[in-house]
Amino acid sequence: MKIRVTVWNEYVHEREYEGIRKNYPEGIHGCIKKFLEKNGDIEVRTATLDMPNQGITEELLSNTDVLIWWSHARQDEITDENVELIKKHVHAGMGFIGLHSAHFSKIMKALLGTTMTLSWRHGDSEKLWCIAPWHPIAEGVPECIEIPEEEMYGEPFDIPKPDDIIFLGWFKGGCTFRSGCTFTRGLGKMFYFQPGHEEAPVYEQAEIQKIITNAVRWAKPQKRLKQAPDNIAL
Ligand code: ZN
Repeated sequence: MKIRVTVWNEYVHEREYEGIRKNYPEGIHGCIKKFLEKNGDIEVRTATLDMPNQGITEELLSNTDVLIWWSHARQDEITDENVELIKKHVHAGMGFIGLHSAHFSKIMKALLGTTMTLSWRHGDSEKLWCIAPWHPIAEGVPECIEIPEEEMYGEPFDIPKPDDIIFLGWFKGGCTFRSGCTFTRGLGKMFYFQPGHEEAPVYEQAEIQKIITNAVRWAKPQKRLKQAPDNIAL
């Protein structure tokens, strides 16, 4: 059975700015769908915020093994009901991958329980160092990946202690960052991955695609409760 992935994207910047549309003519979700679907073991659906109920339904999540979420401008608009629905499914075993500025989304804050603040600077370049080559998400990934254009995200990053830190970002203008971290919430595996500022086509980079593909395979549920329960007995 294939891993069922839903790529959920707010899909705002790609429509509002010409330069960003050039990077992602089919949206960030379209780009991620395309490279994931090159793998025979993965099937992908996409959802965007302009869809009914912000693109999220109980039926969709019940049929999603791994939810990938990219957000920035409108992430505060996610309804509390949707935040609760996603949280419930993660607790029941659905994998969750939060990308780039989604760190500050209501969903990530609700799942991790901290402020998720960090230091920030526009216009930088990054060397992404793999510091846990033994981890499944790092399989086949080089020791260092150069991202020519990326926004700087720096420490201190207010997250709970991760299960594993797989990637450390080093930025040319100064600062380092825990750029790839895993967490467990209930039965659900979570991966936060920092690269992916919309002003550069970061998700077109082969090594970044490899990491997200690995993360999908890693985050798929080992055990999934049939129903997302109101009260989980683990
Ligand atoms: Zn950004």
